[in-house]
Amino acid sequence: MKTVLITGAARGIGKEIALELAKEGYNIVLNFNKSEEQAKEVADKISKLGARVLICQADVSKPEEVKKLVGGAVSVFGKIDVLVNNAGISLYKLLIDSSDAEIQNAIQTNLNSVIFMSREVVKNMLQFGGGKIINISSKWGIVGGSGESVYSAAKSGIIGFSKALAKEVGFSGINVNVVAPGVIETDMIKNLSMQDKKELESQIALGRIGQPSDVAGVVKFLASDEASYITGQVIEVDGGWGV
Ligand code: NAP
Repeated sequence: MKTVLITGAARGIGKEIALELAKEGYNIVLNFNKSEEQAKEVADKISKLGARVLICQADVSKPEEVKKLVGGAVSVFGKIDVLVNNAGISLYKLLIDSSDAEIQNAIQTNLNSVIFMSREVVKNMLQFGGGKIINISSKWGIVGGSGESVYSAAKSGIIGFSKALAKEVGFSGINVNVVAPGVIETDMIKNLSMQDKKELESQIALGRIGQPSDVAGVVKFLASDEASYITGQVIEVDGGWGV
């Protein structure tokens, strides 16, 4: 049975990815940082689907916690077949109003976490001759978002990192791809007013804001054997926003 490690899987998109892959029979390593109760509820649902689940608290912006998270997963399941770097935070602020701490935290959590996680998991994948890494970026990492320049920089960094890593580890049988969602209905967009949402929907070709399941389905495909010849790619899951 294959094992997937998903960061930030207690809520939102990560939770949906965990449930979707549990239905496929994967062993699930469910990381959370602050949402312990929600993590337990998701783990319960996963168990009821018949999959094995390991809940691991870790702040993935911290390299020492990442090492413990990956070490714990490896000690239980041995091999990590799929890594989904999903954890992220928003920073809605004009650059000139952003403090040093806010900038550092946004980069550390959204970008450096992906680098730390990938470094530790690639070591395991190299031992076992391959694997798949799927990194969750954002439409803003491609086109940039006003009022979200630091977040956009981090999400753009994920794309550059993933393309480079795909070349570095491709010969070792490791695929590295990026999913770049548009606007997805989760806590991350809870501050948008109905008016904001309506305006956004008018700019989206498919006329609706996305659901976590829209992203989870694409991640499931990239994790599957059907996607074995895809690497270094960015798949935009945005309903045709800005096309
Ligand atoms: P969300 O509902 O706010 O969930 C964010 C998740 O990230 C939570 O599970 C949270 O865990 C986790 N997280 C944050 N900081 C963490 C840390 N230091 N260590 C470990 N986990 C951490 O947001 P979402 O919409 O599902 O976002 C998931 C990913 O999609 C993010 O990378 C986000 O940037 C990206 N994305 C979202 C949208 C959107 O419109 N929703 C659009 C484009 C891209 P805890 O609650 O346990 O702390």
